[in-house]
Amino acid sequence: MSSSWGRSPVRRSEDVSKGGVYLDYQASTRLDPRVRLAMADAYDSPGNASSEEHAFGWAAAERVEHARRLVADALNALGEEVTFTSGATEANNISILGAALGAPASRRRILISSIEHKSVSGAAYAAERLGFTVEVVPVTAAGVVDPEQLTGFLADDVAVVSIMAVSNEIGTIQPIPAIGSLVRSAGAFFHVDATQALAALEVDVGEWSADAVSLSGHKIYGPGGIGALLVGLDAPWRPQPLMHGGGQEQGLRPGTLPVPLCVGLGEACRLISEEGRAERHRVATLRDALRDRLRAVVPGLAVTCEATPRHPGCLHVHLPAVSASDLILRLQPHVAVSSGSACTSGIIGPSYVSLAIGMAAERAAECVRFSLGRFSTSDDITEAAVRVASALSEVAAH
Ligand code: PMP
Repeated sequence: MSSSWGRSPVRRSEDVSKGGVYLDYQASTRLDPRVRLAMADAYDSPGNASSEEHAFGWAAAERVEHARRLVADALNALGEEVTFTSGATEANNISILGAALGAPASRRRILISSIEHKSVSGAAYAAERLGFTVEVVPVTAAGVVDPEQLTGFLADDVAVVSIMAVSNEIGTIQPIPAIGSLVRSAGAFFHVDATQALAALEVDVGEWSADAVSLSGHKIYGPGGIGALLVGLDAPWRPQPLMHGGGQEQGLRPGTLPVPLCVGLGEACRLISEEGRAERHRVATLRDALRDRLRAVVPGLAVTCEATPRHPGCLHVHLPAVSASDLILRLQPHVAVSSGSACTSGIIGPSYVSLAIGMAAERAAECVRFSLGRFSTSDDITEAAVRVASALSEVAAH
């Protein structure tokens, strides 16, 4: 296969997702049946959590507050630090733009890493219209921000620093505790996009010295359309709201709360708190088995940033002389994998994350991300490797 760039053809879904092997957990996860059950109960109960005059409203508020505590527990934070949002995109926007707006006038610089999600970089660049400047801190070839290099950027005019905990594309885990203590000493507001983190590691926002942390339901076996922004009570200042309304969520994110979605996010977090450690271990074992099987069928296969601590479900690989987009298409409808993040797929060109770690564009076009999770099985792994081998031999025969 020759490397080529191009927009994927638009396909009808039909039965495509039935019976195939799903290995795109970092794009989105299936709703856990236990989360669905908890939500079904909430859907059967009417009530606005802000209706303070009657028992239905009180019951709704109770469900929301219970969910809020479960979200906080998963981060080792306090319930009053958690704000529900529509997802991580919104949480990232509030955190970056809102914290910039709340910063003292002497702080006008925003620092982000070169591999941040577009909802972080987009929000940061939007702040340029408000008089802020954005500086991009490079990552090393190992896919991480070097805390020493970050020190060179930090000064008392920095307003916000935003560094993701775990890459959605290559899975690398950042040295957040070391970065956080540097940012804290500089007096800036430290935001961590932790969208991929709960599936990948034990999170303790205190150890991170994080002032704000973003989460998303659909990455952790919860529902789509809900996320959370945690703002530490000891943050140097509070982000300003970006929307204005009825004052819900302490005015930071007004709007009627979607009670069943809040319940779903809470239950998803509870399951991670209880089962996350064992799950990560199981998933990493499967991921390594997949790596070994792929190595047996793809000559020269290389794992991206293999020596760096990574998301246990993430296997980002280079397949020499194989066009990733051709391979992914040939795997349909049997195996779902990705050439990068879903949010930037459709954009023509090499992944900015691959380029940021120093990969040549041609090599970036030959990379595929397999991502595993809670419902992955060893049969999935076997099937995926067989399908990849047959797709490659199909190509060789042409
Ligand atoms: N940040 C990261 C690291 C992500 O992976 C994603 C989802 N791809 C987002 C932010 C955006 O999350 P959401 O889909 O909840 O808006």
